[in-house]
Amino acid sequence: MSLIVQKYGGTSMGSPERIREVAKRVARFHGEGHQLVVVVSAMSGETNRLLGLAKALNAEPDPRELDVIASTGEQVSIGLLAIALQSLGLKAKSYTGAQVRILTDDAYSKARILAIDDANIRKDLAEGCIVVVAGFQGVDEQGNITTLGRGGSDTTGVALAAALKADECQIYTDVDGVYTTDPRVEPDARRLKTVTFEEMLEMASLGSKVLQIRSVEFAGKYKVKLRVLSSFTPVDSTDEGTLITFEEDENMEQAIISGIAFNRDEAKITITGVPDKPGIAFSILGPVADANIDVDVIIQNASVEGLTDFSFTVHRNEFKRTMEVLETKVKPVIGAKAIVGDDKIAKVSLVGIGMRTHAGIASKMFGALAQERINIQMISTSEIKTSVVIDEKYMELAVRVLHRAFELDKEPVQETLKP
Ligand code: ADP
Ligand code: ASP
Ligand code: MG
Repeated sequence: MSLIVQKYGGTSMGSPERIREVAKRVARFHGEGHQLVVVVSAMSGETNRLLGLAKALNAEPDPRELDVIASTGEQVSIGLLAIALQSLGLKAKSYTGAQVRILTDDAYSKARILAIDDANIRKDLAEGCIVVVAGFQGVDEQGNITTLGRGGSDTTGVALAAALKADECQIYTDVDGVYTTDPRVEPDARRLKTVTFEEMLEMASLGSKVLQIRSVEFAGKYKVKLRVLSSFTPVDSTDEGTLITFEEDENMEQAIISGIAFNRDEAKITITGVPDKPGIAFSILGPVADANIDVDVIIQNASVEGLTDFSFTVHRNEFKRTMEVLETKVKPVIGAKAIVGDDKIAKVSLVGIGMRTHAGIASKMFGALAQERINIQMISTSEIKTSVVIDEKYMELAVRVLHRAFELDKEPVQETLKP
């Protein structure tokens, strides 16, 4: 008998029919003798609808109340799934995040899980009950409802699996695993049987929303066996989806590049005619950091006649605020010529642990983009990724061109070590 945590996303829970299918799949695993904790998201579109209602009343709603509203989508889902399971003759009980006591910090809309009280869940499991837990939500020390950020039900699932020392955490979604890139953008994307934890972490942080980045962090920290599968296969399917692995040599099909991630969530800001002297980067980014704004890609040009240009990217939601900080707190102090913003950019990234040992990946990437006349505005690299910032309108083309150039649609050729 294993303890399995299953998480079902919004599309998987999208209608009474879909919820019935989820219940049947849960029933199948329960019937095979496993203990089940099931984490669910709000029905598809529901979280957006709820946030929209709040914003119809106030463009900048109070964050505490926003979380009170946003969390209700998941509360509906847990009740519905518990009822569907009971209709199949099974014992099932639902819990909100606060009822479990998923304790978080008080950072509304992006709270972090601090502790999970698993006493009630364990008691129910021991009595043969299926436990249904609301994803995406928790409660802070003061009893305020918090939410974990968009896609946060993944994190609830993995965190519960870690707390319960579950044998496996299964993330059921509307695709049957992790692909070389989003199959909705590149129909030739190939499903990966396995992907290393490090690569998954990069893919998630660079925009692949199939797993929320914090769920991958939890899996890494607590060594949770994590798998991504489809809830749209027949309930008796034995398909194994994609397994996130922790050891490189477990990965039988290791390619140099395992995937392409992309996002449209950033905006670029350039400050021109900045006097090139020590401390200038700090004078620009210090006030930005003080305003609690995260900066991603940064470029400082070589200076001409003592003046340089300085560019960086921030989250698109923070674009306006960053421009204000620069206009009011930076420009008057450093005496720059102009501040130019562009929120029509996209970041496209190649990810692969093989980059550590193979040269020439970046140049091949730039060559492929050049052939399509896609202009690269910024470049950023780390050990296992290379990212480029380009005009948003070329994003999908860039993804497809790179997918082809690196032959990601084909199974990687095995590198065999000859004796
Ligand atoms: P859920 O509601 O189940 O949490 P999400 O929409 O959050 O589902 O995540 C699943 C989606 O992630 C897929 O429909 C797919 O479009 C997208 N996606 C992005 N990158 C990838 C990738 N590399 N592999 C698989 N899916 C991806
Ligand atoms: N319902 C939340 C969202 O739409 C959480 C989730 O689905 O994971 O972001
Ligand atoms: Mg999701």
